[in-house]
Amino acid sequence: MFIAGNWKMNTDVSSAGALAASICDRVAAGTRTRVAVCPPYVSLESVGRTLDQKASPVKLGAQDMHFEDNGAFTGAISASMLASVGCTYVILGHSERRQFFGETDETVNRKVLKAMGAGLIPIVCIGETLEEREAGEVEEVVGRQVRAGLAGVSVDSADRLVLAYEPVWAIGTGRTASPEQAQDVHAFIRGLLINQFGEATGRAIHILYGGSMKPSNAEELLGQKDVDGGLIGGASLKADDFYGIIAAAEAVGRK
Ligand code: PEP
Repeated sequence: MFIAGNWKMNTDVSSAGALAASICDRVAAGTRTRVAVCPPYVSLESVGRTLDQKASPVKLGAQDMHFEDNGAFTGAISASMLASVGCTYVILGHSERRQFFGETDETVNRKVLKAMGAGLIPIVCIGETLEEREAGEVEEVVGRQVRAGLAGVSVDSADRLVLAYEPVWAIGTGRTASPEQAQDVHAFIRGLLINQFGEATGRAIHILYGGSMKPSNAEELLGQKDVDGGLIGGASLKADDFYGIIAAAEAVGRK
């Protein structure tokens, strides 16, 4: 199981440090669930320092990056910069990046390849809007996002991928996909991964669910066969709630 917190554009350096410290205090060294926090860029270094000082198993992730190495891209951050500040993970293709910042399947793909080349583990987000779901287009949309987003990823490196199925209509809305809805799409994504990377690798890749996951619904969602963890927005901003989800993952206790 893998639980990652996406803090989005929340916290400043001081509150990010305090949140990271409280999460570290709850996540013990023996926790089997992989845990990551993804603070805003400005807090990456200080949060990383807190994780190091506490010798925490919690890893550091960023929320986005550019696909170029360096150059005249004002405001952008590259994969090597994230690696140099101690990031293990980077979220790519989040629906808010797609919706508000012009992210496309093509740019997601360029970022995925660049991130993997820099030794980062990408958490690649995919998911349909409400209109697409109501029009019966879930598999078409998610299938396109997976195929295009992962184009050119080699079979050898694919076990370092993480995917996150995040139905757009469930993000930050309090509306969660039912466990069955989540499992249906996760099983579809699993099939695509097996197709592209083979049975063993396709099964080993973690597919997270994201969209209003909280302690009260986590165990049921995480109990689904192809749900291997969660990408958590709102509930990752409170250490108790975030830990409640980690505890649910520990209770389910799969890969
Ligand atoms: C997210 O944005 O990745 C997310 C899942 O948000 P929330 O948990 O707030 O729905």
